[in-house]
Amino acid sequence: MALANCRDCGAQISTTAKSCPRCGAKPRSALGALATIGKAVVHVGFAVVLIVTFIIVFRVVSSYQ
Ligand SMILES: [Zn+2]
Repeated sequence: MALANCRDCGAQISTTAKSCPRCGAKPRSALGALATIGKAVVHVGFAVVLIVTFIIVFRVVSSYQ
């Protein structure tokens, strides 16, 4: 059984524990990290789509002048 430090209070908790026995904080799981990365990718993707849309609209508007 591996031990990891709680990221909130620093207590040593089992990596299999669902939450910290001292403060109740949930340990950062691989799935949680993946979800965080997934959200970041969605946000970046949304920003890229907005920028590309803006560039296309700008080019279309410019071609009329
Ligand atoms: Zn804790």
